[in-house]
Amino acid sequence: YAAKANGKGQVQLFKPGLLQGESTLVSFERLLGRAAGGGQLEVHYQPIVSLTNLHCTGAEALVRWRHPERGLLLPEEFIPLAESSGAILAIGAFVLRRACTDAVTWPAARPGVPMTVHVNISALELESDHFVESVLWCLADSGLPAKRLVLELTETVVLESLAAVERLKTLVTHGVQVGIDDFGTGYSSLSTLRSLPISVVKLDASFVTGALSNPVDRTVVEAIVQMSSKLGIATIAEGVERLDQQEMLALIGTDAAQGHLYCRAVPQAELADWLARRAAPLLREL
Ligand code: C2E
Ligand code: MG
Ligand code: MG
Ligand code: MG
Repeated sequence: YAAKANGKGQVQLFKPGLLQGESTLVSFERLLGRAAGGGQLEVHYQPIVSLTNLHCTGAEALVRWRHPERGLLLPEEFIPLAESSGAILAIGAFVLRRACTDAVTWPAARPGVPMTVHVNISALELESDHFVESVLWCLADSGLPAKRLVLELTETVVLESLAAVERLKTLVTHGVQVGIDDFGTGYSSLSTLRSLPISVVKLDASFVTGALSNPVDRTVVEAIVQMSSKLGIATIAEGVERLDQQEMLALIGTDAAQGHLYCRAVPQAELADWLARRAAPLLREL
């Protein structure tokens, strides 16, 4: 039982003071196991905005845990434990299902261009024999067209297992899109692009921060964007907080951006409000 075996090592992943001892960790883990089924998980959405026309082309599903005593917990406070305890399987299934049913209700970015929903997938989920089946079931059950779903994986996840790559390829033949998250921070970025039918890469926020101050970061961002564009892969910049960052990314040719400059991750109802408020001025522009 991995989480118990390295329980002491896990504690440091949590905010200081959140957990004191191993017994607390074990009960936290048990609570987490039940949270997925017990209605304590929420899925929030962060809009993704086109840098060509500023339309909202999609949104990323980001899980939160409404903890009975500790309030709203962010993924960094429980995903690592969920991954080592296996609870991520239930959490991931919940997020995927909710994301598909929510996304069905979203308006189109513009006529004929429906919004995509991005869902983060952990290595353990991809290792499961049932993964392909459960994704296809979520699509069928919700009625979400496969091409509107983007599965976000990190480079390491994809490179770890051939079976994972085969599962992703099967899903891609059904129309599902695959994106590489935190691109540029893992290993062998370039070979990932060769081994998989990827349609999106997400530039890690650290490059967005670095590119304005550090010429090396800027060159790396330019290279990733140019290479992706030649390969027919869309680029999305993460963690865009300022207008000068947006301007630089647009100049380089990044396709889309996501970050606090536009909107934080918000509950489904707030996303709908944000989209409605945003659509009004954009429609006037047309
Ligand atoms: P990620 O997929 O790279 O998601 C982007 C993270 O950046 C999110 O943090 C988002 O709230 C945050 N962010 C967005 N815009 C800005 C900005 O302008 N500035 C800054 N400083 N941060 C920004 P969040 O929601 O805390 O999620 C953290 C990570 O947890 C995600 O990173 C993802 O790897 C993981 N995660 C979230 N939801 C799920 C899930 O349902 N399943 C799995 N397996 N992992 C998840
Ligand atoms: Mg992500
Ligand atoms: Mg990311
Ligand atoms: Mg990230």
